[in-house]
Amino acid sequence: MAVLPADVAFDVSVPLVIVGAGACGLTAALAAHEQGAGVLVLERDSVPRGSTAMSSGMIPAAGTRFQAEHGVEDSPELLARDIMAKNHDAADQAVVAAVTAASGATVEWLADRWRVPLSLVTGFLYPGHSVMRMHAPPSRTGAELIGALSRAVEEAGVDMVTEARVTDLFAGPDGRIEGLAYGRPDGTVERVGCDRLVLACNGYGGNPEMVRRFIPEMAGARYHGHAGNVGDAVTWGEALGAQLADMGAYQGHGSLAEPHAILITWALMMEGGIQVNAEGRRFSNEHLGYSEQAAAVIAQPGAVAWNVYDARLHALGRDFDDYREAEAAGAVRSGATVAELAAATGLPAEALAASLEQAARGVAGETDPFGRDFTGKPGLQAPYYAVKVTGALFHTQGGLAVDPDGRVLRADGRRMPNLYAGGGAARGLSGSAGFGYLSGNGLLSAAVLGRICGTVASRP
Ligand SMILES: Cc1cc2nc3c(=O)[nH]c(=O)nc-3n(C[C@H](O)[C@H](O)[C@H](O)COP(=O)(O)OP(=O)(O)OC[C@H]3O[C@@H](n4cnc5c(N)ncnc54)[C@H](O)[C@@H]3O)c2cc1C
Repeated sequence: MAVLPADVAFDVSVPLVIVGAGACGLTAALAAHEQGAGVLVLERDSVPRGSTAMSSGMIPAAGTRFQAEHGVEDSPELLARDIMAKNHDAADQAVVAAVTAASGATVEWLADRWRVPLSLVTGFLYPGHSVMRMHAPPSRTGAELIGALSRAVEEAGVDMVTEARVTDLFAGPDGRIEGLAYGRPDGTVERVGCDRLVLACNGYGGNPEMVRRFIPEMAGARYHGHAGNVGDAVTWGEALGAQLADMGAYQGHGSLAEPHAILITWALMMEGGIQVNAEGRRFSNEHLGYSEQAAAVIAQPGAVAWNVYDARLHALGRDFDDYREAEAAGAVRSGATVAELAAATGLPAEALAASLEQAARGVAGETDPFGRDFTGKPGLQAPYYAVKVTGALFHTQGGLAVDPDGRVLRADGRRMPNLYAGGGAARGLSGSAGFGYLSGNGLLSAAVLGRICGTVASRP
């Protein structure tokens, strides 16, 4: 992985190369194709999946017709305010403004122009969102999202080479990217020249050394993102003198079924569920956000917690493919009474009962010692359900600083001549710490900045 002098011959040359075929790369490719640009996508895996395929496929967008159909009033400004409130005003305001402004049009464009089956997710709000604005495929899986994007790219006739890991970039003295090299499984190396390059190869969650360097608090955490995202954009960016920003930011999650490693939707917490530790005690305000909850869960005895909820929320969970998969894998325990649930989970019955009573008092209006507002949701009722979970690192949010057009910036703030980045390869929308991640910031940056990069990089 290096940046090498550009005094080499290229086997072939294309106007625009995109590295990575996740949501960012494929959206960038569709946008570039629409502009009439000659585009080549290079993907290291044999089938494009990325972290996008592991996600719940939820893209936040403001002011869509899908929201209007449900009477939801929203605006880019409100979405931007929610994003900035979550990250304590630490994200790049201009990029947040550009991405939120384009969010509604991007989701409609994906749905209408490319037949990506997105619709509004109703029924619950994720932490920090003022209104319902998550748009997802029917199964609420990223696998369906990446499947639809891949089908669209294929139908459009965009060139893509899979099993092509980009290793080296070739750059001139002014930082202009002249081309790149990628390796094939049989060991051969191909060189492609390009006029412009979009980095859509996500962040560094799969690189333990970089995680230790940039996010020490998650150094020991399980990484539950795509293993191939090993920080190549960071490596090239550093070699090119690009600006890295918000490197301590990440999307964690405090609800990964243990040991099944299946995401258990946070909707269970938002609609009334609680988390207790192995001693049966609550330890946090579950409504602050699932990202920062990763570190909170890891800090508990055995680095685990139990999501505790009831039959109403069990039914809600079943709207999610992941939850049904977890249920089939035996992750979901139940009990007709608190004592039975305690027996099914090994949690101490007395402490578990006390935690449930604490939640019930919260529903009745008593101040919660952890500051959670329990009012407005029904109290938990027998029979009870529980899943053992741990905290995990889902993806990193720091990356190459970009301007609102997705153009990569140098350390001194000037634009690089022809380099673009989006999704997890770029600085995210979450400020510089784990608490700053508002649900959906990942795919918002991937899809919307991807479209912006693809469009801008196609201009003559
Ligand atoms: C379990 C889970 C649930 C999530 N749920 C949500 C959600 O509901 N909503 C949300 O907004 N976000 C969610 N996220 C985050 C979201 O998945 C990511 O932010 C988003 O997918 C990033 O998209 P991307 O295109 O940047 O990266 P990816 O989808 O990871 O794609 C990057 C691609 O680049 C390829 N690549 C890497 N290096 C190279 C190289 N050198 N050469 C060639 N190819 C390369 C990889 O193989 C990969 O295919 C979730 C993440 C996880 C892990």
